[in-house]
Amino acid sequence: MAHTTSTPLANSGDSKIDITYIDHSGFAVVTPTAILVFDYFNDPTHSLPNLIKHNPGLPVYFLVSHHHYDHFNPDIFNLAQEAERVYVLSDDIKPQQVPDRIDAAWVRPGVTIDSLPGNIKVQAYGSTDVGVSFVVTLPSGQTIFHAGDLNYWHWNKEATVDEVKRAYGRFVKVLQSIMLDHKSLNVAFFPVDPRLGDDYADGARLFLENILVDTFIPMHFWGDYKSGCDFDNYTTDNTDSFCLHIPGETLSLQGKMALRSTDTIIAR
Ligand SMILES: [Zn+2]
Repeated sequence: MAHTTSTPLANSGDSKIDITYIDHSGFAVVTPTAILVFDYFNDPTHSLPNLIKHNPGLPVYFLVSHHHYDHFNPDIFNLAQEAERVYVLSDDIKPQQVPDRIDAAWVRPGVTIDSLPGNIKVQAYGSTDVGVSFVVTLPSGQTIFHAGDLNYWHWNKEATVDEVKRAYGRFVKVLQSIMLDHKSLNVAFFPVDPRLGDDYADGARLFLENILVDTFIPMHFWGDYKSGCDFDNYTTDNTDSFCLHIPGETLSLQGKMALRSTDTIIAR
């Protein structure tokens, strides 16, 4: 894969990104040239139709990391019909789950798709569960990472020492493949799942210690966001972390400013 350096957010209109929490691991990212929808599962506040209405003319991307029901909802094939739609699907999704009229781009770890509508580049990396994780590069050079189910999944209380070692090895291998292309990322969505007990943030901690992330957003917490948003417990000083847990809430990133939909300015 080509080496890509991420560019720090410039203080100009063409670098503005609005991130809306849809639900669980589902986010919509409005960029200057496209709306990116990651792992749409369920949209209790109808945020996606609203975002499309307020950003007419932008292509809408549906990126799906894998087939699990909490990451892939076949409703996506009926959404956003008023917009140009781009489907980037992990190839563990069965073709018979995709309507014939939909022209999808299928990805597996190691695949890069360039020159997509809105001048967007998508790179697929591995997962420790099934499917892929994504790095999307915008025309400005800004990079957005979505982990899918990539994590250091280890259930220490139940696992043997060997199983924990294997889980660690699998995670580090994927992390290294991302680091070969991306020493830093502008935005990262990563699972911080309280079901893992005391070890719930080990994957996120390892990720943030190895890749410089400007803006970190936890996900996959099944509505139980408290520990995932306890950032002092696991994030690094170089990273600004934001707790988006109310479906429909939006974080705007521009230059060194982050603005929440509540109109509270958060200094960086
Ligand atoms: Zn999942």
